[in-house]
Amino acid sequence: MKRLEQLRFDNSFVNALPGDPEADNFPRQVFSACYSRVLPTAVSNPQLLACVSEVAELLDLSALSCESERFTEIFSGNRLLPGMDAYASCYGGHQFGHWAGQLGDGRAINLGEVINAKGERWSLQLKGAGPTPYSRNADGLAVLRSSLREFLCSEAMFHLGVPTTRALSLITSGEQVNRDILYNGNAAPEPGAVLCRVAPSFIRFGNFQLLASRAELGLLKELLDYTIRSDFPHLGEPSIPVYLAWFEEVCRSTAELMVHWMRVGFVHGVMNTDNMSVLGLTIDYGPYGWLEGYDPGWTPNITDAEMKRYRYGNQPQIASWNLARLADALLPLIESVEPLQQAISSYASTYEKGWRVMMRNKLGLTGEVQDDETLIRELLSILPLVETDMTIFFRQLGTVSTDSNPDQLSNDQLIAPLLDAYYDLGALDADYRNRFAAWMRSYMRRIQAQPLSDAQRRQQMDAVNPKYVLRNYLAQLAIDQAEAGDNSMIYELLELLRHPYDEQPESEHFAAKRPQWARNRAGCSMLSCSS
Ligand code: AMP
Ligand code: MG
Repeated sequence: MKRLEQLRFDNSFVNALPGDPEADNFPRQVFSACYSRVLPTAVSNPQLLACVSEVAELLDLSALSCESERFTEIFSGNRLLPGMDAYASCYGGHQFGHWAGQLGDGRAINLGEVINAKGERWSLQLKGAGPTPYSRNADGLAVLRSSLREFLCSEAMFHLGVPTTRALSLITSGEQVNRDILYNGNAAPEPGAVLCRVAPSFIRFGNFQLLASRAELGLLKELLDYTIRSDFPHLGEPSIPVYLAWFEEVCRSTAELMVHWMRVGFVHGVMNTDNMSVLGLTIDYGPYGWLEGYDPGWTPNITDAEMKRYRYGNQPQIASWNLARLADALLPLIESVEPLQQAISSYASTYEKGWRVMMRNKLGLTGEVQDDETLIRELLSILPLVETDMTIFFRQLGTVSTDSNPDQLSNDQLIAPLLDAYYDLGALDADYRNRFAAWMRSYMRRIQAQPLSDAQRRQQMDAVNPKYVLRNYLAQLAIDQAEAGDNSMIYELLELLRHPYDEQPESEHFAAKRPQWARNRAGCSMLSCSS
């Protein structure tokens, strides 16, 4: 384990790629460069709210060094460590389907890349550390509310087995930041915060798109060569076939990411191409949410309430659309449309295949039977009919016993193990009960025919159906308490979500359905990009 001063930095992104020659920090268009050097803005009273010891360990940092005043100074942006070389990166993106031109790190500042004892590269990035040349007319700051949501969710996702950026630390700045939470003209001051997030790289689809849109093809090639050499060395030295292999890998990892999101009921909320990582990581946690009632049409993002472009059920298609925009950007380097189109078709088949395996795992099915597809589709048609908590439903399904003959069980007996998942028992009318019971009979016959005990099946299901997710209202409760000066729930949730697949009887209340008060409360099921 090392002390902060002993961290080894190798800032390959700034060393390998051209930067913006302008040194002053003011909003501008930045051409022929991949980044602009910029320092974080100092804050008046940084206070460490939470840090994640296992993320510190990735950097070879001891838990003790995270408790030092120096740690808080550095990860609030008040000073840099020797070896750090701070910059904001330049990228563009399609926002809600429309090309938005240059966006860039408007409130993210990269500090440097740590090489740990295992030789792994970890890029450190502050979010909310003040304006950069990419801030346009905004302040470069972040509030506690949204920073805490990103902090908790990225760690929750990691422990769920979903590829994601990580969170090292959450620090309040001592500054007040004005935000209009619901964009309804009611701006109010909120506590400011700085998050430090950690990933092998923060390169997005939009980094390539912006260069292609400006026909900066030499730089586009440099960025792609750099990306391949630093994060995809197994593909070999850059060449046209390697560019294609790279794009195929981005398609594959994005497909796998979508399967994970669909498995756990995560809705990103803003799948713009600038929020898509080329490493297939979940990145930029903004107005995300978790499905409570299973509803493919649901989005937590009120900015998208009308079009619902980024609704739960549309995420896999949007990922494909985004990959097609990345392919557009690569076309000048590859000079042939057909193999790019093939790669995008391979995305669809990887996703479909992965989704089917994932759904069969969620249902505890082994082997493949022809009727499985029908069984899965019928369940997914039934779930949205009445408000059914997705997490509880699949977890409870694991408790179904195959001891009895389903034909001898009444509708009530068949539905009994799932009752906990329903938000309104009064909504379970006779039609619903009949349809559900018919499905349950087919399901029971299917699991009775396979050579697994109930205990074995449950164990398999419990490994993919989490008991604990960061329910929207839980994040909000932690925010309410932190804003009132009590950080204990942050640690309580971090600990809970380290083991999302385990039964944790003392924490059963955190697995409860959304309470009535949270149904329409801002922050619980309705969020905006205001953060
Ligand atoms: P997002 O949709 O949150 O990923 O942000 C889209 C773009 O807006 C990115 O370029 C961000 O850096 C920028 N942005 C968002 N919030 C702020 C802010 N408070 N200050 C400066 N730039 C911001
Ligand atoms: Mg973003």
